[in-house]
Amino acid sequence: MPVLRSTFIALSRNRFLRHFCEDSRIGVRLSSRFVAGMGIADALRVAEAVNQQGIAVTLDSLGESVTTEAEAHRAAEVYHQLLDLLAAHKLNANISMKLTQIGLELSPALAELIARSLAQHAQATGNFVRIDMEDSRLTQVTLDIVRRLQAHPDSRGAIGVVIQAYLYRSQADVEQLLADGIRMRLCKGAYNEPAEVAFPRKADVNANFILLSRILLSSPIYHALATHDDAMIAAAKAYAVKNGIEPGRFEFQMLYGVRRDLQRSLVHEGYKVRVYVPFGSDWYPYFMRRLAERPANVVFLARNFFRS
Ligand SMILES: Cc1cc2nc3c(=O)[nH]c(=O)nc-3n(C[C@H](O)[C@H](O)[C@H](O)COP(=O)(O)OP(=O)(O)OC[C@H]3O[C@@H](n4cnc5c(N)ncnc54)[C@H](O)[C@@H]3O)c2cc1C
Repeated sequence: MPVLRSTFIALSRNRFLRHFCEDSRIGVRLSSRFVAGMGIADALRVAEAVNQQGIAVTLDSLGESVTTEAEAHRAAEVYHQLLDLLAAHKLNANISMKLTQIGLELSPALAELIARSLAQHAQATGNFVRIDMEDSRLTQVTLDIVRRLQAHPDSRGAIGVVIQAYLYRSQADVEQLLADGIRMRLCKGAYNEPAEVAFPRKADVNANFILLSRILLSSPIYHALATHDDAMIAAAKAYAVKNGIEPGRFEFQMLYGVRRDLQRSLVHEGYKVRVYVPFGSDWYPYFMRRLAERPANVVFLARNFFRS
């Protein structure tokens, strides 16, 4: 399985395959299990349907690693539109965004400027921007930017970040971010990382996820635990019950199209659930990371494809 995971992650960076798949009808059809659609209207339609099941949403306009300043501004424009539309349609949804999509690899100052204007917009509309976490080369610069935005009164409280349990550094980062009052989403981590920076063994990643989730649950700040893993969820629920932490003090997050049964049963039990809904034509790297997490999805998708 680790070989398949690495293969899919390597394929997620293949430019030829990416263009071929993103332009093909079959590719678009296959991706629809995990991606809401190609445009903002699709994202809003899915958000509304998910909200109707009592589940909150975070919207991700797909795209990463832009190569020009104009592309970074275009990506930001989609998020500005989304913030206005979410307010106008009164949807229970916030936004998730990658800093490389708004120019981090061109210029950290550019990405910070754009992220700041989005966080200010989110604060003004009573909403929230989650900065996704990318590979470990970008961890420090991402956290630095989020901490500076949190320190600014115009964006304070409207910005949050993601912590990956597979990184050795994460416990120290969690403690620093808690001291700054920053909301976190805890996940296991989706990139290929070397043993110098990340736990190579899944058991260690899981143990760290449980440790960090306990730290987050014990804090007075509203955090998110992003996982589809029954064992991680059971551990969090047991800890919350034992320590008198009300279900409304935190949320579980899952990906659109993944473990819908579990999403519904958590809502039924009274927990808060938010689904990460990606949309847009740049779906290929996101889709390949989902296959990397569960290579069995290839069989599942193929079966559904031929059935429909
Ligand atoms: C809301 C959300 C936001 C995220 N944001 C980030 C981020 O910013 N940065 C980052 O690096 N990673 C992010 N991730 C991905 C995360 O790091 C993991 O790669 C992913 O969630 C799989 O880990 P898991 O906790 O579900 O457990 P795993 O141990 O991978 O899986 C546990 C079980 O969950 C089910 N499952 C897991 N993934 C899938 C799938 N794709 N399809 C079907 N079933 C599946 C299977 O039953 C599997 O046995 C995010 C995940 C979520 C849910």
